[in-house]
Amino acid sequence: MLTKSDFLMGRQCRKRLWLEVQGSGGAAALTPDQRHALEQGQAVGRLAQAQFPQGQLIQATGETALEATAAAIAAGATCLFEAAFSWQGWLVRCDILQRQPQGTWTLIEVKGSTQVKDEHVWDAAVQWAVLKGAGVPVDQVDLMHINRATCVYPDLSTLFHRQDITTDVVARQPEVADRCQQFQAVVAAPSAPAVAIGDHCHQPQRCSFQAQCWQGVPAASIFTIPRLDKKKKRQLIETGCWAIADLAPDFPLSANQRAYVETVRRGEPEIDLQKIADHLATVTFPIHFFDFETFNPAIPRFHGLRPYDAFPFQYSCHVLAADGTVTHQDYLHETADDPRPPLVAALLSHIGPTGSVVAYHQSFEATVLKTLAATFPTHGAALQSIVDRLWDLEVIFKDAYRHPACLGSTSIKKVLPVLVPTLSYDHLPVSNGAIAQAIWEAMVQTPDPVQKQRHRDDLRTYCHQDTWAMVAIYQVLQRLVA
Ligand code: SF4
Repeated sequence: MLTKSDFLMGRQCRKRLWLEVQGSGGAAALTPDQRHALEQGQAVGRLAQAQFPQGQLIQATGETALEATAAAIAAGATCLFEAAFSWQGWLVRCDILQRQPQGTWTLIEVKGSTQVKDEHVWDAAVQWAVLKGAGVPVDQVDLMHINRATCVYPDLSTLFHRQDITTDVVARQPEVADRCQQFQAVVAAPSAPAVAIGDHCHQPQRCSFQAQCWQGVPAASIFTIPRLDKKKKRQLIETGCWAIADLAPDFPLSANQRAYVETVRRGEPEIDLQKIADHLATVTFPIHFFDFETFNPAIPRFHGLRPYDAFPFQYSCHVLAADGTVTHQDYLHETADDPRPPLVAALLSHIGPTGSVVAYHQSFEATVLKTLAATFPTHGAALQSIVDRLWDLEVIFKDAYRHPACLGSTSIKKVLPVLVPTLSYDHLPVSNGAIAQAIWEAMVQTPDPVQKQRHRDDLRTYCHQDTWAMVAIYQVLQRLVA
C-alpha cells in the first residue's frame, strides 16, 4: 500500500516516488542533521500527545495496526494516536484522532513548523480522503503547529497553536482522488518516468536521489547563477542548457548575474585591490577572529527563550597581535544545562576591550551578542562593545573579490579552498553549523564517555577551523594588497 509520505513524494516528483517505492536503492543516507531534525519532530509529536491524556497509542505496524485501530474504536476509545486506516491501496497513520461528543472525529495533524504550509494541507487532505473512504465520520481537520508568538520558556502551556484547515482540505479532495490514481499508476509502471531536474529537487524537501539525477550537471551550472528566477531556469532546463558555458550571450540576465556569468566564462577572478586595501585598513589590533555555534530547538529549554530561538553553546576565537603572533581561545559547553552564563563569562575573559572582532557574515554574531546582552544586562555594555567592534570579512567577497571557483557563493566554505587550497571542510566529521547542532545535542545527551570525547573533539576541530580559516584568508588578502 502507498502512504501519505508517498503521496507527498509524488506531488514533489513522480520519478522520486517511483525510485522510492520500486527502485533498488540509491537514495542518500540521512545526514546527522537530517536525523536530528527527525528526532526533533518526534519530540514535538510526543509533547503534542501529552496534551491528550485520554489518548491511546496504536503501536502495531502494517495490517496489525489496522486491526488494533478498529478494535480500539469498537471498544469506545475517545482519542487515538497513530490510528491506521486504509482505502483503495492507501494506508495512513493519523497523528491524533479525537472523538467528538456527537460521535464524529477531529483529525489533528501535528507539525514542528511555526505556520501552516501548503504540503501540510496536502498531507491532511490525503488522510481525509482515506478516512472518509474507510467510513470514518471525520468532520474537522486541525493543524497543530508550534506557537512562536507567545510561548516563552519555562511556560510551555502555549507551545502549540491549533488552526482549523477543514475548508482547504475539503477543497482539495477532487485533486487528491485524481492524484491517488495517478501515483498508483506511476509505481505500477515498469520503469521510472522521465522527469527533468529543477527546483523541485530541493523543494519542499531535498530529494535523496540527487546523486543520480544531477550526475550530468557541471559545477558551473545555471543553478549557481544568483537569484535566477524560476521561469528562466525552467526555460533553460527545457532546452537542455545546464552549463553556464552553453548560455546564449544574449540570454536576459541582471547586471549582477551577467557579471557572475562573465567571471565564470573568463575563468579568472575579478579583484578590486583598492577596495580590499581600503577595507583591510579599517581593522585594528589585536584582531579577534570570532565565530559562534548555536542551537535553536523547536521546544525551548532555557529561561526566556521562545521556540526556535538560538542560543550559543560554543565559540572559537583566534587573536592576531600586531607583532604577528596568533593565540587561540575557545569555549564548548559540554553538559545539557544552560550554556549561556558560563559562555558569556568565558567570552568576556577572552575578548578584551580593544581591537576588531572579525566575523564572517557578522549579522549572525551581532544578533547572538545582542540577545545575550538583553538576557544578561549586567554584561550588556561589555557585550555591546563587542558588537560595536564587529568587522565583516565576507564583505570583501561580496564587493571586491569574485572568483569563478566560488561558483557565485561568498560562503566561507566555498571561499576558503580557493584562497587557501591546503584548508577545506571536506574531511571534517562536522562540516557545517546544522551538523554541529546535531553533534552537540548528541554529545550532551550520551552517557558514553568515548562517544562524548569524539563529539567534543569533532566540535572543537570544526569551530577552530572556522576562525583559523578567517586568519588564513585575512593573511592571503594582506599579501595580495601588499
Ligand atoms: S533528483 Fe529531482 S528529478 Fe531526480 S528524483 Fe529527485 S526530485 Fe525527481
